[in-house]
Amino acid sequence: MNAGRSNAGAAAAAGRIDMKRLFDEWESATARIAGTHVFLFLDFDGTLAPIAPTPGDAALPRGTRAVLERLAGSPRCTVAVVSGRGVEDLRGKVGIPGIVYVGGHGLEADGTEALPNYEPPRLVRELLAWMRREIGTRLAAVPGLFFEDKNASLAVHYRLVAPGDVARVEAEVRRTVEALDVGGFLEIAEGKMVLEIRPRLDWNKGTAVDQLVRAEERLRGEAVFPVYVGDDATDEDAFRVLEGRGLAVLVGEPRESRATHYVENTEEVARMLRTLAERCGEPLAR
Ligand SMILES: [Mg+2]
Repeated sequence: MNAGRSNAGAAAAAGRIDMKRLFDEWESATARIAGTHVFLFLDFDGTLAPIAPTPGDAALPRGTRAVLERLAGSPRCTVAVVSGRGVEDLRGKVGIPGIVYVGGHGLEADGTEALPNYEPPRLVRELLAWMRREIGTRLAAVPGLFFEDKNASLAVHYRLVAPGDVARVEAEVRRTVEALDVGGFLEIAEGKMVLEIRPRLDWNKGTAVDQLVRAEERLRGEAVFPVYVGDDATDEDAFRVLEGRGLAVLVGEPRESRATHYVENTEEVARMLRTLAERCGEPLAR
């Protein structure tokens, strides 16, 4: 029954490694911006904000906030922040008006009518609570492990766990989900030093981005230029949706990915955003 348990990281498997450094190809990669409305999608942790020891510690750098405010105020550009965080948490971290906030890997949204807000059924909430208790008991002796309860999912963070305990944590989380979720309602998504147990739905960052782009194009009556920037396995679903119609930028070292371009770190993301803000400050060329 669990053979089909999906894994967001698997989306990268059929990708490519021949990605280009964005700043080497900036002009060709962004040529369509001159005549097209830009829909800019940004992941939060590891993209806008440097990865922090705990989710609560992560913060938007001041310069990045300033350029996001400029972009959000530009009539040439629509900005969405797309994260695995709950949408309220995300809005609290960014706090810029005029931005679309997409949380829970696409399950929750604020600032748009184009996405539904998923309410987990009681069964899912109870399963997640049960799993938290079970995993907490089984791994009580592992220091550094912590849980993050989100509206529709449970994140098990092991960034602060000793390297020698990581394999045991991963195995125990998987074993617990296999054992308790006999109905196959849940799946595990892998992130950076986190396993997220969430409802098994054909809904992810990619479907949310696709839906938002389509809604914006219907509203404007013409194609927009979608740009997605992200650093993690769950961003691959969005990179795939943009294939052939937008710009997909990975944050980090080049690796097997659906992204076509990469920037190295969050500082390079800020640099990219400043350049985009300049371009979006120019009048639309028709
Ligand atoms: Mg990220």
